[in-house]
Amino acid sequence: MTARVLDGKAAAAAVRARVRASVDALRARGVAPALAVVLVGDDPASHVYVRNKDKAAQEAGFSVRTLRLPAATAQSDLLALVRELSADAAVHGILVQLPLPAGLDPAPVLESIDPAKDVDGLHPENVAALAMGREALRPCTPLGCLEILDQNGVELSGARAVVIGRSMLVGKPLALLLLERNATVTVAHSKSRDLAQIAREADVLFAAVGRARLVKADWIRPGAAVVDVGINRLPDGRLAGDVDYEAAMAVAGAITPVPGGVGPMTIAMLLANTASAAARQAGLAREVPLAASAHSIRR
Ligand code: NAP
Repeated sequence: MTARVLDGKAAAAAVRARVRASVDALRARGVAPALAVVLVGDDPASHVYVRNKDKAAQEAGFSVRTLRLPAATAQSDLLALVRELSADAAVHGILVQLPLPAGLDPAPVLESIDPAKDVDGLHPENVAALAMGREALRPCTPLGCLEILDQNGVELSGARAVVIGRSMLVGKPLALLLLERNATVTVAHSKSRDLAQIAREADVLFAAVGRARLVKADWIRPGAAVVDVGINRLPDGRLAGDVDYEAAMAVAGAITPVPGGVGPMTIAMLLANTASAAARQAGLAREVPLAASAHSIRR
């Protein structure tokens, strides 16, 4: 058996086309949807991510304001900037690229983002809304994981889902979204015993760990769908996911590649969240066909 490759570039293109239509509809109603991206410090990977987000947002028709600050920025100055953006009616979405340089505490920075503009879905109010099953902006990577499965007809309702990783950014919100979609969810982490055995129970297996090729072929139930969130740099400079991709291809029913899987979906869902946030702030959420299900609750 050879697994079906779940193509993130194609699925992301479909989302981006819907976002473009939402942005055009907003512009036709006099709203210029705008995203502000705050990047602090010199982390090379963060600079690449921000460049990609900036480019994708501009291509989708957003106005983009990228604010680059030195690593030595004071916490108080960063907070003041984020508060200013939160109060600016011309800005609809705010993204603070993480991680912040050592010495800066991300928690108060995320808390100073207006929840209505929190397109990364990391403000405590939005995290609580997700846990409570209420409409809110949701984190982009978990949304992207579900969107690529939805587009490829992978059923979640009633399925056994295993999520390896429990970060606030990926694992935890993903588990909550899967519960909302009526999957039976197990969350595993670094202290889990018998990880391979837990993983083998999954109809849909998610790896969000950050360890290259941790998930071996014999951890995968034959025919399972595998979503690989990991992005790891190998010693030879190439990128690898958290799943041993080549070997997994022979066992899984469907699998996302790295690169070209969850990565493009994350950016697409950021754009969808921003269009959705702009429509809501303009009071046009009912009139503008929203780009994707970023706010919605499906059962
Ligand atoms: P993180 O905050 O470092 O969390 C990693 C999680 O994996 C933790 O819950 C940790 O468990 C668990 N873990 C670590 N080693 C493990 C092991 N040997 N066995 C089982 N679990 C283990 O990372 P993250 O932010 O969630 O990101 C995870 C990966 O996804 C990274 O490679 C990151 O680059 C990638 N990522 C990709 C995208 C994308 O767009 N494709 C977006 C975000 C992140 P404990 O909680 O017990 O420590």
